[in-house]
Amino acid sequence: MPPVSDNTGPTDDLDVLVVGAGITGIYQLYRALEAGFSATLVEAGAGVGGTWFWNRYPGARFDSESYTYAYLFSKELFDEWEWQEHFAEQPETERYINHVVDRFDLRRHMRFGARVSAAEYDEPTGMWNVTLGDGTVLRTRFFIAATGVLSVPFFPAVEGRDDFHGQSLHTGLWPSTPVDFAGKRVAVIGTGSSGVQIIPAIADEVASLTVYQRTANWCTPLNNAPITPDEQRQLRADFEAIRETLNTSVSGFLHTAHDRATFDDSHEERQAFFEKMWNSPGFSKLTSHYTDLLFDPAANAEWCAFIADKIRSIVSDPETAEKLIPTDHRFAEKRPPFVTDYYETYNKPNVSLVDLKQTPIVRMTANGIETAEGVREFDIVVWATGFDFGTGALARMGIRGRGGLALTDYWADGPKTFLGVHTVCLPNLFFPGGPHAAAGNNPRYNGDQVDFVTDTLVYVRDHGYDVIEVSAAAEERWTSMIDRGAALSTSFGESSYFFGTNIPGKPRKYLLNSAGRPKLFKEISRVRENNYDAFELSRASASSR
Ligand code: NAP
Repeated sequence: MPPVSDNTGPTDDLDVLVVGAGITGIYQLYRALEAGFSATLVEAGAGVGGTWFWNRYPGARFDSESYTYAYLFSKELFDEWEWQEHFAEQPETERYINHVVDRFDLRRHMRFGARVSAAEYDEPTGMWNVTLGDGTVLRTRFFIAATGVLSVPFFPAVEGRDDFHGQSLHTGLWPSTPVDFAGKRVAVIGTGSSGVQIIPAIADEVASLTVYQRTANWCTPLNNAPITPDEQRQLRADFEAIRETLNTSVSGFLHTAHDRATFDDSHEERQAFFEKMWNSPGFSKLTSHYTDLLFDPAANAEWCAFIADKIRSIVSDPETAEKLIPTDHRFAEKRPPFVTDYYETYNKPNVSLVDLKQTPIVRMTANGIETAEGVREFDIVVWATGFDFGTGALARMGIRGRGGLALTDYWADGPKTFLGVHTVCLPNLFFPGGPHAAAGNNPRYNGDQVDFVTDTLVYVRDHGYDVIEVSAAAEERWTSMIDRGAALSTSFGESSYFFGTNIPGKPRKYLLNSAGRPKLFKEISRVRENNYDAFELSRASASSR
C-alpha cells in the first residue's frame, strides 16, 4: 500500500485536526488523509507513541500479543515488521510506531510539543478554534480528540509530596533520559499493572526496593516468549484469518473461547485446567477461561483460591504472601495485571513490602516516606499510582461547545456519549478511544471507532453538510445502556478506575463499554442503515462551502 500523500502539511485552516499521536490518533490521521481531508495532528509530547511514548519505565511491555495490538490496515506493514516477542517491550513498540509514521509519510502532518489549552466551537461557521500552549490558534471543521483513556497521570495528594528532595517519578510520565537505579534506595507506590511491571525489572539493580501496596491485585503470569522463525512464517501465512478474527471477535484477541463452566468439571479436572490457564499467555486467562468465571461468584472464588495457593507457593515469607493475596475484590473486577517474576521478586533480600492498609502513608518527608510504622529513607520514589481514566484528558483541554457550554459542566455527573465517540452540544467533535469505548484489546475497538468516525465525516462531506451533532435521544439511549450494564456488575472494590473512584471527588460512573464490542458493531451498523438519523446534519449559517 503506498504512503498517504496529498501534500497537505500543517496548516491553520483544516478539515480535520487530530489531537494525540498514540495508536488511535495516528490511525485517525491516516484514515482522514486517505479519505481526502486536509488534516493535521497535534501532540503534546516530543514524539509519537502516546502511551508508548510516556510510559517508558523499565519493564513496560504489552500484555496483548504484539501482532494483535499492531495495525492491520496494511498487509505489507504486517509482513515487514517482525515483532521479536509475543509481548513486546516498550522500546520495540515505540520503534514500531515510528516506523508506521515514516512508512506512511505521516510525520509531516504532525506538530509536536503542541498541547491543546482551549477548544471553542464557533456556531456561525461550524468550525472549531483550537488554541495550543504557545498561543497558536488552529481552525478546523472537525476536531478529533484521540487523547486516550490512560493519559493523565494521577498523583495522590500525599502531604509533603513536593518536599521530597530525591528523584520523584511517575510511571506514566517517565523521562526520556535513562534513570540510574544502580545502588539506589527506591520506593514504588502502587501495585497496578504499571507497578507490578517495574518492580521485578529494577529489583536486581537497586540497593533496596520497598513496595507500598494499598490493594493487592490478582496477578498471573504473562508467559512471554520470543517469536520463533516458524511462528513468524505462520503469522504471515495466516494474516487474512488473523485480521478477520481480530476485527470481529468480542474482545479483539485471537484466543479461543472455552466451552465449559467451572463446575462442569471435577475438582481434579478443574485444577488441571487452572494450571493450564496459569501457563497460558496474557489475557487468555480471561478470554479462554471457564464461561462462568465472571458471572458466578463461586466459580470466580475457585480460580482465586488457586491463584492464592500459587502466591503462597512462590513467596517464601508467609506473612508477605498473605499481604499479596487480594481480599477485597474478585478476579477481573479490576483490570488483572499480567506479570513476569513478580511474586518471585519478594524473595530477594533487598525487597520488602509495606501494606498501606495496615500502615498508611502519613506524609512525605525531605528524605523519604513516613507511615504509621515510621520513616523509610529513599533516593528515588516511583509513583505507579495510575491515571484519571476515561475523561481526564478530554476534561483538561478547555473544550466549549454550542452556546459556550463547557464539556466539564456537561459531564459534571459523569460522561454522556453516543457510541463512546461523541456527545451532544459539541458538533463536529469526536473522541475515538474515549470513555464508554474500552471493550477488550485497545487498538481493535479504538480502530472500530476511528473507522466509524471517518465514514461519518465522509458522509457529512459527501451529502453537502458541514455540521453534525448527535441527537439527545440517541446519546441518552447509549449512555443509559452503559450505566445499566455497569449496574449488573459486582463490587469492584473500594477503588477502581473502571468507575473513576480512584480519583477523589470524581463522580462514580462506569467509564468503559459495559455493553461490549458486539453492541458497538450493532449500533454502528444501525446508524449506517438508517442514514445517520441518530445525528442532526446541517449547514452552518456562515458556511464558506
Ligand atoms: P492502576 O491500575 O490504577 O494502579 C494504581 C496503583 O496505585 C494501585 O495499586 C492503587 O491502589 C495505587 N494507589 C493509588 N492511589 C494511591 C494512594 N493514595 N496511596 C497508595 N497507593 C495508591 O494504574 P496502573 O498500574 O498505571 O495501570 C493503569 C492501567 O494502564 C492498567 O490497568 C492497564 O489498563 C494499563 N497498563 C497496561 C499495561 C500493559 O499493557 N502491559 C501496563 C501498565 C498499565 P488501589 O488499588 O488501592 O487504588
